[in-house]
Amino acid sequence: MNHIQGSLIYEGKAKRVFAHENPDRVLIEFKNDATAFNAKKRSLIEGKGRLNCKISAALFELLELNGIPTHFLELHSERSMIADKVNVIPLEVVIRNIATGSLCRETPIKQGTMLSPPLLDLYYKDDELGDPILTERRLSLLDFISDIQLKEVEEITRSTNKILKEYFDSLDLLLVDFKLEFGTNSSGKLVVADEISPDNCRFWDKKKSDPKERILDKDRFRQDLGGVIDAYEEILKRIEKQSSHAI
Ligand code: UDP
Repeated sequence: MNHIQGSLIYEGKAKRVFAHENPDRVLIEFKNDATAFNAKKRSLIEGKGRLNCKISAALFELLELNGIPTHFLELHSERSMIADKVNVIPLEVVIRNIATGSLCRETPIKQGTMLSPPLLDLYYKDDELGDPILTERRLSLLDFISDIQLKEVEEITRSTNKILKEYFDSLDLLLVDFKLEFGTNSSGKLVVADEISPDNCRFWDKKKSDPKERILDKDRFRQDLGGVIDAYEEILKRIEKQSSHAI
């Protein structure tokens, strides 16, 4: 421990959160643990923590440059970042540009269907319940978010999607879908929290047509396709080649 990294506050599936000397901040350490299917499938993937931390930092910086509020403050090491301490809103906000994954398992919509406008799905963040999808009415029954804050969450998610989709397009990557989490910081401001990495985004390589070869995200782990770390490295390599810029 040092003066910045205090005691462990919380340990999740992919990250550890430590207290910071400034009570409004935390230090987030990215772990090498990989989990899927609500942690029924687990593995250790050497290097994943570093890659997800660096990718997330670059994407949070890109979002901030484009006016999207995030919890990110600065990188602390290759595997850890300093962020706003937030009250997490128990929502997983998924936005989809191309149909795949649960949307195709749960509806007759065909794999690869372009979704225009992008489809925004809300899930209740609760591991024990398996993060169930929410209807508008269930959400209002649960009563943990105001209509105004929900509107803001949806607007930020749609703007984030526009920025990231255009950015990844310029890196020859299709941004298929991703999940965001939100929190409120010590000033009560709504910010994008958690991470933005191949663990919670789907990326397809525009240069490849084979439906398995083109996958550059956690689906390689979920589907036992191998080459998980190479895929994550490829995402970071493309980001670093074209350093973050305002679009
Ligand atoms: N996702 C996530 N955490 C979850 C569920 C989904 O980060 O607990 C991400 C996932 O990586 C993908 C998007 O949200 O980018 C949509 O996932 P989907 O609903 O298709 O679920 P899956 O097929 O992964 O079960």
